[in-house]
Amino acid sequence: MSSYSLSHLPDPVLLHDLAALVARERATTAALLAHLAEVDARRLYLPAAHPSMYSYCVHELGFSEDAAFKRIRAARIAYRCPAVFAAVAEGRVHLSAVVLLAPHLTPENVEELLAAAATRKSKAGIERLLAERFPRPDLPERVEVLAPPLARTLPSAPPAPGRIEAPASTGQLAPGPVEQRTVVEAPAQRPKVTPLSPGRFALQLTIGQATHEKLRYAQALLGHQLPAGELAEVLDRALDALIGQLERRKFAATAKPRPRTRRSSANPRHIPAHVKRAVWERDGGRCTFVSEAGRRCPARTRLEFDHADPVSRGGEATAERMRLRCRAHNQYAAECTFGAGFMSHKREAAREAAAARTRAAAEEARARAAAAEVIPWLRGLGFRADEARRAAARCQSVPDAPLEERVRVALSCFAKAPLARAASSLPAPT
Ligand SMILES: [Zn+2]
Repeated sequence: MSSYSLSHLPDPVLLHDLAALVARERATTAALLAHLAEVDARRLYLPAAHPSMYSYCVHELGFSEDAAFKRIRAARIAYRCPAVFAAVAEGRVHLSAVVLLAPHLTPENVEELLAAAATRKSKAGIERLLAERFPRPDLPERVEVLAPPLARTLPSAPPAPGRIEAPASTGQLAPGPVEQRTVVEAPAQRPKVTPLSPGRFALQLTIGQATHEKLRYAQALLGHQLPAGELAEVLDRALDALIGQLERRKFAATAKPRPRTRRSSANPRHIPAHVKRAVWERDGGRCTFVSEAGRRCPARTRLEFDHADPVSRGGEATAERMRLRCRAHNQYAAECTFGAGFMSHKREAAREAAAARTRAAAEEARARAAAAEVIPWLRGLGFRADEARRAAARCQSVPDAPLEERVRVALSCFAKAPLARAASSLPAPT
């Protein structure tokens, strides 16, 4: 008898078995999350020729996009707050709850938030809990043009190809803040591309006023070639133009390459345009990383030109020794060459340098503001605007001095008797 045919079971046995299966499924889910988290932390998707954990879950493990998104999100937060594993295994919270709680969970509040969430089983209940604990400001008032009446009264049949409809607003709140570590490519909700029949797709999206005007203008410009202004055809031509432009920028693609010049760049990282074109054409605009099992990475976005021989070790930018790599695999190759520790040190150094630049810029802005405060005082003493600006620039070196002191520093710029007098008669600023 098939184990899926249960009609012979008495009711109590059926219910008992169901409860046992649910308990087993929860335990399995928690164990699954732990495995996903560890694979993610070790980035084992990279040697398997996947650019991300999401890609690995969808293409290697066969998860749906939604399931991959949810499980990765939950696995990452559970990795940081291990109490989540037990809560899932014991059925105190479900995966949807973990995903909702994720942006707010910290090792400090995890136990308490999980306990609160355990009393509210539904998603709406968790959302209410979060609204109580982490209230967000009201949404700004906004007037929006919603779907035209026609689109709302029509049944939800797929739109005819070539027609752009504005879907009715869902009235949902924007998702909450997402912490950086757990950014996962979310499955696209909207716009929507729905396959209709072989080779035909329905495209549904909302566009803004400016885009709408551009679209109408493009239709008008194409009036002679497309008298009916077919949207699908306009879109196709627009994409051709965009792709051409992006290819030129990213890969120096051109139908009319300029003759190569002998002039070579002093920068060893410079990649000549003809090399970019050759590499891009040879590699078919796709990451060239291949796993040990012979699988090639499918990534076609975030591609970078990678030196097969590191530049620091004399690698040259020739078509033979260059290749396309997605960002993840470019970095992975560098780690394999120089070691993960070295690369993470380099990344940390780059982050620190960026932070130092930000701090220096803020410091400079503060000094400029301190100097600008002095200008009205100098103008009040009868100096011309350009004189006042020049003199005020002096007090950028003492941004923390009281205003009176800064005015004196600025006046010392002139160092003439009448001005010194003016300085001494300066009223104390309030
Ligand atoms: Zn790749």
